[in-house]
Formats: sequence, structure tokens, C-alpha cells
Amino acid sequence: MQLRVFNTLTRKKEKFVPIKPGQVSMYTCGPTVYKPATIGNLRAYVFMDELRRVLEYDGMKVKSVMNITDVGHLVSDGDDGEDKMQKSAKEQGLTPLEIASAITAQFMKDIDALNIKRPTVCPKATDNIPEMIAVVQSLLDKGYAYETEDGIYFSVEKFPAYGKLSGINLEEQRHGARVEVNSFKRHPIDFALWKKAQPNHLQQWDSPWGRSFPGWHIECTAMSVKYLGEQFDIHTGGIDHIPIHHENEIAQGESWLGHKIVNYWLHNEFLLVDGGKMSKSLGNNYLLSDLEAKGFSPLVFRYFCLNVQYRQKINFTWDGMAAAKTAYDKLCAQLVAHKNSPAATDPEIIADFKKKFEEAINDDLNIPLAMGVLWTMLKQPKSKDIYKLALAFDKVFALNFDKVKEAPKEQLDVPADILALAQERLVARKSKNWAESDRLRDEIANRGYLIKDTVDGFDITKK
Ligand code: AMP
Ligand code: ZN
Repeated sequence: MQLRVFNTLTRKKEKFVPIKPGQVSMYTCGPTVYKPATIGNLRAYVFMDELRRVLEYDGMKVKSVMNITDVGHLVSDGDDGEDKMQKSAKEQGLTPLEIASAITAQFMKDIDALNIKRPTVCPKATDNIPEMIAVVQSLLDKGYAYETEDGIYFSVEKFPAYGKLSGINLEEQRHGARVEVNSFKRHPIDFALWKKAQPNHLQQWDSPWGRSFPGWHIECTAMSVKYLGEQFDIHTGGIDHIPIHHENEIAQGESWLGHKIVNYWLHNEFLLVDGGKMSKSLGNNYLLSDLEAKGFSPLVFRYFCLNVQYRQKINFTWDGMAAAKTAYDKLCAQLVAHKNSPAATDPEIIADFKKKFEEAINDDLNIPLAMGVLWTMLKQPKSKDIYKLALAFDKVFALNFDKVKEAPKEQLDVPADILALAQERLVARKSKNWAESDRLRDEIANRGYLIKDTVDGFDITKK
């Protein structure tokens, strides 16, 4: 079936045709590893994974590259302010390397827990400094860049197509530019390719321009081309990257090589919390561990994400998570019932569901529609054929349908108040509140039920 994707560059849904038949090269902007990934960041990587899984479902071999930004991402978009790594290191009394390695390890744990396949290569920016210097030097040699007192800047006026991804207009940007004006720049939205380091700057390297460090945008251009070649199929990221980071990647990359590098630009919409942006001041900068502490497994969060198409906003609420958990548990119970049935289903019916599923996933990753196909299919008379097809769908959903197991019969009839107590106890256990956990176990026992802990939650049986 022909996959169609929405290309931000052309603002159209297009047929996806890879450069090499049957093989796909894709690049994703990875995390800046100065603080743990929020559930918003993780939505971006669930999307990256869904895209890869759909391509693989369609029989393509995918090479996926996701960088780790461990230097050069400044606090301000206007090429001013501290490096996020340095700021975080100072605040925590650690070195940037120590922060980067701890946060990267936590990130990898999070993506594993979400069943996000690890990309084929995850290069670190700090391991690719010579490659970046070479790109910057070439841009200087070709007249696209200029040196100032504090760094090397890309001259956006030298690239007439600047703005083609986001539709921004250079002249409008000159007046009332959103980015702060840096007096060294020729145009307010010229951007730093390379920054000269103050002596006290923690991460700095020798370069033709003295002790210095890379700009954030150059990292992605140098690493994507190094690992995927001078032209590759797909570049992904969140929509916030369209107007600056990706626009800059296009300008510097195409000026450097003299041709288009990326064929399809795909961007995910934001995850909002209670209808707004996540922010420290609101205390709603949730991490996966915050969800787990409230008894929601990472796969329930994945299920939650899959119910909204990647180009739509998701509104995260705790009620929404609770509803996702109930639905996911019901889904698993239905799957077990089909798994245990010896009956078969008419092959024509099976073929029809398969076709509908494939139409949905290939229509710009309409995973919510594909999930709807699964729910309708599960309403069919119980049959092992349906379970088998659900397993095939799970190559895309990645919700562990192969691990669903028989819940104790009584558990399906456990009263809601007992389940609520069990859920409360799970929360107490996650926060290592053993006294509360024991109290709740006793209360559940007093009401006639036995609770047993399992790897992913609990089992309840009648005494
Ligand atoms: P960063 O580490 O800030 O570069 O962000 C990593 C990825 O997460 C990027 O692709 C961002 O566009 C994406 N992102 C950041 N915040 C959100 C959000 N609230 N919802 C969805 N994606 C996000
Ligand atoms: Zn990037």
C-alpha cells in the first residue's frame, strides 16, 4: 500500500517515495541532555517510532539516526545566553559530561520503557566536532558565513530561499524581529554556526577561530549528512523546530552542498497539559516517572499518545490518563479472550480488517483510526485468527499484545472500590511508602480480597 505523509516543506500530503527503493534514511532531532525528557518531548519520540514502524510494516528497511545534543544549545534563540549544558552543570555542581551521561542514560531507559525502538545510530554532538568545523569552514570559504567578535554567523541574505519551510519573510523579520538583536550580526536572524568561548566556558575546543564551541543547528547538519549521506529521505522533529532550527538546517546545509538534502520534513504537534504549555512555574513539567508514581505504566502513556494523530495537539490530563488506562486494560482483556478461543474467522473478514488497518496507517499515520479498526475487530465473535491479526497490528502499535495474559477470572469482576484501593496501594508502593501500602493491603483483605504484586501492577483474587 502506498504511504502518504504530510510534508511541511510543500504543505501537502504526498506519496512517500524513498531515494533507494525499499530503504529509508531518517533523521530525528534528539534530546538536549541537560534535564530529563518531559512527556511532551517523549511524544515526539513516540511519533518518530510510529513512523519507523509503519515504514517497516510496509516492508522497508529503515536506517534511523537521532543525535544527542550535549553542547551548543543556548538558552535563547537569539544566539545569546548560556549553553543549557553549562547552566545545568553549574546549578547541579557537576560537569557537563556527568550531566549528559546521566540524562542520556535516563532518556534511553524512558524510550525503552515506551517500546520506542532505539535508533540505528545515536551520535553525540561532542563526538563530531571536526565534522562540524569542516562544514563551518566550507561555508566561510563559499562566502555564506562571516566572522565576528563572538563567533561565526550564517548570513541569511545569502540564501534567497530562507523561510521556505516555515513561510517566514526576511524583511518582516528585520523589523520587529522576535529574536533579540545581537549587535555583531548583519541581519537580526543571521544565526551562529560557531561561538567563541570565554575562558571560563566549560565546553570548548581548538578551532581555526580559537577556543570555541559549536552552534546547535550545525550539529544536526553535520551529523545527519555524516550518517545518512548528502541526500536522505525524512527529517522529523516537533513543530517548535520549524521556524528556527530546521529553517537554519536547510539554509546552512543547502548552501554547503549546493543542493536539497532532505526530501520529506515531518513534524509532530505539541502535547499540552491541562490545555496549556508545560512549565516549571505551574509544576506540570511531567516526566514518565511522575506518571509511573501515580500508577500509570509507560505503555498506558504510549496508548494515550496513539489515540491522537501526530499532527493534532494532545491535551494531557490525569482524567485522560485514567481513561486511557481503563481502555488499555479492556483492550488487553479482549485480546486474551480472542487468544484463548479455538474458533476461526472467515478469511475474507480478516482480510477486510487488515486492509482497513493498512489504509489508516498509510494515510499520514492515522494511528487513531487504525486503533478504531482494532476495537471494531475485537467485537467480532472470539477467534484465534483475530488475535493473530492483532499481533500483526501490534508491530505498529507496540503495546505488548504478545504479553497479554489471562487475568484471574475474578479480577474482571472485582468491585470498583477494591480496584481503587489497589490502585492507591500501587501509588504508595511506587513512592516506597511501605506503611501505607501495608495498611491498604489489610483494608483490601478486610473487604474479602487478596492482592498480589506483579511486575506491571497487581493481581486481585477473592479470598
Ligand atoms: P529538545 O530537547 O528541547 O530539543 O526537544 C526534543 C524534542 O521534543 C523536539 O523534537 C521538540 O520539538 C519536542 N518537543 C518539545 N516539547 C514538546 C511538547 N510539549 N510536545 C511535543 N513535542 C515536544
Ligand atoms: Zn536538530
